[in-house]
Amino acid sequence: MSAKPSNWIVETGQIWKLYVAVAGFTGTLLCFTLGIFSLSTGGGRFLALIACGLFLGCATFLWFTMVLRCPHCANKLVWTMVSSRPHSSWVVDLAALECCPACGGRLDRLS
Ligand SMILES: [Zn+2]
Repeated sequence: MSAKPSNWIVETGQIWKLYVAVAGFTGTLLCFTLGIFSLSTGGGRFLALIACGLFLGCATFLWFTMVLRCPHCANKLVWTMVSSRPHSSWVVDLAALECCPACGGRLDRLS
């Protein structure tokens, strides 16, 4: 019984990127929520908050796509998974990856 590493994102020290992405998407939801609530108080800030949320969501997603890469071939793993898996399971599949779908290299080892 060997202690199995939790997953490659942790092993390669990239888990903070996941946290930043979660924080960004949380902020996006917060903007949308505040925007919807602002409708009940006159809606003066509705468009600004929705635009802010959209920008934050897009920026977070693009950044996350760009930074989470295979340590061997620099494949954009998020993009690869988003475009090849169902929307409901790509995050789970991404976290559970053992080998890079592009080059086949072990993701939990840097060499
Ligand atoms: Zn690779």
